[in-house]
Amino acid sequence: MEDVFTFADALGPLKVIHVHEPTLGLRAVLVVDNVALGPSIGGVRMAVDVSTAECFRLARAMTLKNSAAGLPHGGGKAVLYGDPKMPKAQKQALIRALAKTLRNEDTYIFAPDMGTDEECMAWVRDEIGRVVALPRELGGIPLDEIGATGLGIGHVTEVAARHCGCPIAGARVVVQGFGAVGKHAARVLAEKGAVLVGAADSTGAIANPAGIDVGKLSAIKASGGRVLDYEDASKLDREAVIDIACDVWIPAARPDVIDEGNVDRLKTRLIIEGANIPITPAAEKMLADRGVLCVPDFIANAGGVICAAMEYRGASEVAALAAIEEKLRRNTREVLEQSATRRILPRQAAVDLAVARVKKAMGYRRYGLFSSAPGFV
Ligand code: NAD
Repeated sequence: MEDVFTFADALGPLKVIHVHEPTLGLRAVLVVDNVALGPSIGGVRMAVDVSTAECFRLARAMTLKNSAAGLPHGGGKAVLYGDPKMPKAQKQALIRALAKTLRNEDTYIFAPDMGTDEECMAWVRDEIGRVVALPRELGGIPLDEIGATGLGIGHVTEVAARHCGCPIAGARVVVQGFGAVGKHAARVLAEKGAVLVGAADSTGAIANPAGIDVGKLSAIKASGGRVLDYEDASKLDREAVIDIACDVWIPAARPDVIDEGNVDRLKTRLIIEGANIPITPAAEKMLADRGVLCVPDFIANAGGVICAAMEYRGASEVAALAAIEEKLRRNTREVLEQSATRRILPRQAAVDLAVARVKKAMGYRRYGLFSSAPGFV
């Protein structure tokens, strides 16, 4: 039997709730990590191989991300055991039952993650109301459609590029993963004058030092094509995206794509982590030793959660985009300055910033980790 207190430290988790309903086959875990800053926001991840340990790790990552982003929200996460591609009626029954079971957990606001989407959030809304990332018809701001995270990456890249003396106009950019995050990051950076010289999806990679037309490539992907269907570029194996020389390399696909075994192949000055944990800690350290600046995931890819938090307050799309710009530019500047002055990795500077904000908020609470205020949500 797993001992849930294994994860307990000075920051959390406040609550670990296991949900079990045998007639439906519902099995799920909710971890509410720390809500000193406000009710937690974190996605529901649906997969067959999730675990309490993974749920805790993801909830803690949300505590740090929401704090670093300067949001009045703590971190939480839910995992739902099951194949997200199961028949829709069965999936709907599970999600609705999960929402209903957690109806009184007002320290947790539902959001989507791997295996769940805005339609699932609409079902949660119908059951209990406490949810973000809704369809547009229900007042949502469709963050993947408008490219909230990619847009944020554009701002972060601009600030980081200036920090390392590499102007964004004319900078050569490579994007690994041309999905919701990668394609919007490429578009925004091209609009700022950068040149996309390489891109990859799960089927392969392409390179052209003279530039890839982002509009054309996005149109190919939107019509169901692969990056390899783009004509005016050399065609490469998927992994070869690591070897393309550039100024900015943006991982926007999978975790752990760069490790000690392949980190030396990267030929770049700056890395902006669009995906979550794309680089192992050892490889991140090796990059720093080589003078490659690496903006950590929970700073760089916070555009989506900022958008979701703004939606929760009923803000307009314009206001959400303005909040992404303001918060991400300020945070990136602060993290890079701290990293330079204290001679620590940007990731450490980001963790310190996030933890300091959480600890300060905990100091205002009677019970450090949570609020006793009525109507907390
Ligand atoms: P997505 O499914 O829309 O796109 C992923 C892309 O990566 C696809 O083009 C896919 O073909 C490609 N890909 C998969 N495996 C690959 C590989 N081995 N090599 C090259 N390309 C590969 O996903 P997304 O929403 O763009 O998310 C990408 C990453 O960013 C994930 O790690 C996700 O957790 C993270 N993230 C997403 C958001 C968001 O707002 N969508 C926010 C924060 C973090």
